[in-house]
Amino acid sequence: MPQPKYKQVILKLSGEALAGERGFGLDPAVVRTIAQEVKEIHDLGVKVGIVVGGGNIWRGVAGSEMGIDRATADYMGMLATVINALALQDALEKVGVDTRVQTAIEMRAVAEPYIRRRAVRHLEKGRVVIFAAGTGNPYFTTDTTAALRAAEIEADVILMAKRVDGVYDSDPHKNPEAKKFRELGYIDVLNQGLGVMDSTAASLCMDNDIPLVVFGLSTPGNIKRAVLGEEIGTFVGGEQSGNRSH
Ligand code: UDP
Repeated sequence: MPQPKYKQVILKLSGEALAGERGFGLDPAVVRTIAQEVKEIHDLGVKVGIVVGGGNIWRGVAGSEMGIDRATADYMGMLATVINALALQDALEKVGVDTRVQTAIEMRAVAEPYIRRRAVRHLEKGRVVIFAAGTGNPYFTTDTTAALRAAEIEADVILMAKRVDGVYDSDPHKNPEAKKFRELGYIDVLNQGLGVMDSTAASLCMDNDIPLVVFGLSTPGNIKRAVLGEEIGTFVGGEQSGNRSH
């Protein structure tokens, strides 16, 4: 059996990733595929925490542009992540993976409250823990949640599954000449304003030495490749500036 490079991971799934080609809402087939891929790394003995976004349903910033109070709009966004978390839990349980959803906003009828020590215990017992409702605070994102939970559970890495297959120096959809970075420092992400994650999340990762692998979810098997340490997408780590392109 191949040996994983990373033994304890936070997998960040954006809401968009769950929407597939639709771009909004949930695509059950896509959710099933992701669950199958998570099972593959779980079967390798990797401890998996998942932070799920909500952008496929609602984003706070978009809500506030419609005139809704920003904090209220953000709470709506956090609730959207709970919907995604439940969908993911259902798909994971259907492929035989034991899971727990922990939510940063208490709602005991549907999920456990987030309790760090209990989350760690679940991971030790081989359960996949899905972290819902972001940090529980408005004005944050689920990228920051991924950084925070990774620090809290002492994850070896954040695996950031995206629609694009890594970090580019410009938008690859608009610029055919766009170059993909193989490796970057967090300082580069911050200084160059690269669209990897927001600056709060990047700072938290940099200050706590949490590496990040950004890769595309559309290629089947990529979650496993990332866990095995294969060079896919872009690796972000350290403080040093030292970007290398493909
Ligand atoms: N959100 C928040 N606090 C958090 C995490 C999320 O207020 O700690 C809200 C915010 O409004 C955000 C929405 O939840 O727009 C959905 O999360 P995000 O945009 O990070 O989802 P993704 O882009 O990963 O789908």
